[in-house]
Amino acid sequence: MLACLISGQGHAEIREVPVPRLQTGEVLIKLAAAGICGTDIEKVHGAYGPGGILGHEVSGTIESVGDGVTDLRKSDRVIAHHHVPCYNCVYCEHGDYTMCDLFRKTNFDPCGLAEYFRVPETSVSRGAVVRLSPEASFEEASMIEPTACCVRALDKARVSSEDKVLVVGLCPTGLTQIQLLKKIGVARIIGVDILPHRLKMAQKLGADETIDSISEDVPEEVTKSTRVGVDLAIVSTGNQKAIRPALASVRKGGKLLLFGAPAQGATIDLDVGALFSRQISIMTSYSCVESDIHRALGFLAKGDLDLRSMVTDRFALRDAPKALEHARASRTAIKTVILS
Ligand SMILES: [Zn+2]
Ligand SMILES: [Zn+2]
Repeated sequence: MLACLISGQGHAEIREVPVPRLQTGEVLIKLAAAGICGTDIEKVHGAYGPGGILGHEVSGTIESVGDGVTDLRKSDRVIAHHHVPCYNCVYCEHGDYTMCDLFRKTNFDPCGLAEYFRVPETSVSRGAVVRLSPEASFEEASMIEPTACCVRALDKARVSSEDKVLVVGLCPTGLTQIQLLKKIGVARIIGVDILPHRLKMAQKLGADETIDSISEDVPEEVTKSTRVGVDLAIVSTGNQKAIRPALASVRKGGKLLLFGAPAQGATIDLDVGALFSRQISIMTSYSCVESDIHRALGFLAKGDLDLRSMVTDRFALRDAPKALEHARASRTAIKTVILS
């Protein structure tokens, strides 16, 4: 079978590899759709080091199940989550599931960008494989994992309907956050990006106002429209340059949520005196767990989310390296999806 593997710094390639064999409690999934995530690109090009596993926004059908798997069967349409927490440690007890030591230890074999991939028993037994309703398309289903990450992040930020919210970085997750904020019914949604087609998409999906951060000054525009600044600014891009204007747009006593994964080792200079006296809370949200996935599926089932409009580019699995490069370099792509 074909799988897309990292072959060295900056390189991913398609290789012919054996179909994984199942042990007790495991599940083999035949890939249908896989979204390319910014973290996949970071794994190929960034400082992750060797051993990065590509593809975690995946949907497909169950090809076979190992002994002892009773609640899933061949041909079930599913999504699978690559990481699961133990639900039993100090982090899990406090709801910090994505900080659990087990969380990043499990993954797909050989990866999510493969014709078939094995889901380990640890993940299957903790509910990482979720059956889809017949209405959900594989393409939409592949976007449930990033949607669930957004659901979790907005929960952590305790967004309320009185809030005015700034979303910096209108990548698919930024655009999904805009849709979720619209659903929550917040007082104002302002989207920021440098690419005109993303600003346009944000308006279509629910932003009340957009700011082009190349030609406009973000904090200045935010002050014009909110007087005191936003209650919450979400940095949905991993580019740390976005943090400063986002922070400067938050009102006194407001919140900054870091959502996009910055490159490892990324730093910024911060005026901590101003941070303290303006009483800004900074929080981060990393990944999601099964309960968030179920809630994201609920939003999709109710028709609260338009995930399809965000898919701009589709590639076959054999062209996965091209898809990764396209997602990285294209100025017109929003979501790039691999269809098997
Ligand atoms: Zn992702
Ligand atoms: Zn745990």
